[in-house]
Amino acid sequence: MHHRVRHAFPFRWAMRQSLRRMESASAEEITRYQERRLRALVRVAASRSSFYREWFAGSGVDPASIRTLADLPRLPLLDRSHLVHASDRFLVYPRKLMWVAHSGGTSGRVVTVHRTPGSSAFELSALQRQWSWFDVPHRPRSLLLRSNDPDPHRTGVLTRKVPGAGQLAVSSFRLSREQLPRLLEQIRAFDPQVVEGWPSSITILASLLRDRGERLPVTAVIVSSEVVTAEQLRLMREVFYGPVIDYYGQTERVAMAGNCEAGGYHEFPDYGIIELLPVEGRTDRWEIVGTPLHNWGFPLFRYRTGDEVGPSPTAPCPCGRAFRLLGRIDGRVEDTFTAANGQPLPLPHTVVKNLVGLREVQVAQLAPGRFEFRLVPTTGSDIAAAQQQALQNVDKYFGPHQTVTFRIMDHIPREPSGKLKAAIRLTNL
Ligand SMILES: [Zn+2]
Repeated sequence: MHHRVRHAFPFRWAMRQSLRRMESASAEEITRYQERRLRALVRVAASRSSFYREWFAGSGVDPASIRTLADLPRLPLLDRSHLVHASDRFLVYPRKLMWVAHSGGTSGRVVTVHRTPGSSAFELSALQRQWSWFDVPHRPRSLLLRSNDPDPHRTGVLTRKVPGAGQLAVSSFRLSREQLPRLLEQIRAFDPQVVEGWPSSITILASLLRDRGERLPVTAVIVSSEVVTAEQLRLMREVFYGPVIDYYGQTERVAMAGNCEAGGYHEFPDYGIIELLPVEGRTDRWEIVGTPLHNWGFPLFRYRTGDEVGPSPTAPCPCGRAFRLLGRIDGRVEDTFTAANGQPLPLPHTVVKNLVGLREVQVAQLAPGRFEFRLVPTTGSDIAAAQQQALQNVDKYFGPHQTVTFRIMDHIPREPSGKLKAAIRLTNL
């Protein structure tokens, strides 16, 4: 549904023009563009978002004094904890004009964010610009491999056409050797121009195809949400031939980056401002802090993504764009779970992403097909509703016949790194 609205958005043409202009802009022109939007967003936030109204009043900082990128650090850093509860404080427009989204990423703390239709349209336009570097058309026929189940209530259904979007969705947990011939027939009839989704899901399909000696040539493979390993890259190229387009973003939509046709990994500076915050105790790691420039209804400044990068390359990218180069983005690695029937289940944090109203949440794999949800409630948490939602999620994303248990806790144990993970595996499967 959202896709149709995004494609029809009235300012799309102007957005595309602006995005195209920025590609050949100089570093100075890019900075001027960022600062102009930053000033306007600060003005809106200071007068109309209750969080920033209170912050400016309490801090004594004059909103009009935030004028350049050098002034940005005078604004407070935000993190996930600001969006777990009462994220409405950041709203500038009435809720009903906004789209709502939830996610914990791989972190175990589910946030609620709001988006204007315009910012979603800009997001898609920014992606389409990146695709154009690889000769992918604006609306490619796309084979979509995430967790989307075509129809959880009918076992024989392998794929689903997404109306209006030109997508054929395949669920990760329906990728099996037995189903492959029938699945491949449906994929070939659809004739995809791109394969799009999670690297781990795409890799499952790629290895099934390779084992049968099949190839599925496409213009490009589009991946996001996870670190892509060298082995995954090799396999995707072997089976799908096309180049791999990788982009980075988050549910909070504060910053975006992606690779170019010359192999550089670039910030998309017209989408958001990226600051790199040194990671404590490390001299070679930085956290990505994003200030989005297009979501006028829900302004956020200096949001800590929790995602880390290594050192940026020093040589300019041969593609010639003035978009700053980023180091390798790490931190999005998750163990694959295993379903009751032995199927691999990539990115299992998907089953906790809409469990809102809890302080912390985690899903643990105890054995194949056996999962424990750990819930840390807070005042006003509706545990019964969260449990009901969790059961539905498992049915939808992991498939039927799984065993689910719940444990209510005061605190979920952290990883040795100190991080809370949304999904963990307790056994070697
Ligand atoms: Zn480049």
